[in-house]
Amino acid sequence: MKNMRTGVIGVGHLGRFHAQKYAALSQLVGIFDQHAERATVVAAELGCRAFSSVGALLAEVDAVSIATPTSTHFAVAEAAMQVGVHCLVEKPFTLDTEEADALIGMAQERHLTLAVGHIKRVHPAIQHLRQAGYGAPRYLEAERLAPFKPRSLDIDVIMDLMIHDLDLTLLLTGAEPVDVRAVGVAAVTDKADMANAWMTLNNGTVANLAASRVVREPARRMRIFWQDRYASVDFLNNTLHIYHRGAGAVPGIPGVRDEAVELPKRDALAAEIEDFLNAIVMHQPVFCDGIAGRRVLAAALQVRVAVEAFLQH
Ligand code: NAD
Repeated sequence: MKNMRTGVIGVGHLGRFHAQKYAALSQLVGIFDQHAERATVVAAELGCRAFSSVGALLAEVDAVSIATPTSTHFAVAEAAMQVGVHCLVEKPFTLDTEEADALIGMAQERHLTLAVGHIKRVHPAIQHLRQAGYGAPRYLEAERLAPFKPRSLDIDVIMDLMIHDLDLTLLLTGAEPVDVRAVGVAAVTDKADMANAWMTLNNGTVANLAASRVVREPARRMRIFWQDRYASVDFLNNTLHIYHRGAGAVPGIPGVRDEAVELPKRDALAAEIEDFLNAIVMHQPVFCDGIAGRRVLAAALQVRVAVEAFLQH
């Protein structure tokens, strides 16, 4: 992987971190950002080139991360794949499923690795639960609450934050939403800044997801219920407790055993980028491919339709 020539397009808040990981894992050739001053600063920090056009960068690399605003993902990824460059596109994948389908088609035709940055998939708690083989949960609830930041304002809170929990819901169940109800309100921007969605999936799982980007106290939690156990994940504090029905006693709850799972501390972005580069070199599946990115995008669009229906009442 060390001799893979890489680049990053869009080196704002998140793209700068992508570039740092590529510098450690591969040969970071350079970066491009439409904000030239920003590119110069990040290039100086990492000892790589700040290219003056996206085309000039694409001509010199094998793989790129695309960490520009969502509204530009399609055009940038299309330009990259046209010249045979593998792409890791930040989430949400694209603005709509037509754009997603076109990129998936291009990647397939050109035998390119196309990854979507659904980083929560590589979280150790999620990997532990998937490996435990408990099957699809019956009920799942999540809250993802963040203080306001003046970024990602081209998208609503569903695409910005709720999409992480939607992705995990689809991943943990392997099912599709069939009945989606949702409420949402615009508080600070002209798009939904808070939303709550209640959905039934085609395997019978029910999910209740809450997201806000305008709270004072951040929270990122998920509770997942099976017939005989439930798991409580705190993504902010990196903890996972699994409460099993059977022998044992949690204070005040007889017949329930609390398994506190020791989670490794992991640099999730480095793990994601390493997986992307490995997938290219080894010709193996990537942690989240275009089809998975499209699937969760479609679910997020279903939530948005439900929010819009609510707002019209
Ligand atoms: P940001 O505004 O800090 O950075 C975006 C950068 O892209 C800016 O520097 C801007 O100048 C540049 N840019 C805009 N259009 C461009 C173009 N056409 N070509 C080149 N550069 C361009 O935003 P951010 O918070 O870093 O978010 C970037 C992307 O990452 C978004 O898609 C966002 O949804 C995603 N994101 C993902 C996560 C995650 O958890 N995976 C977290 C935050 C953001």
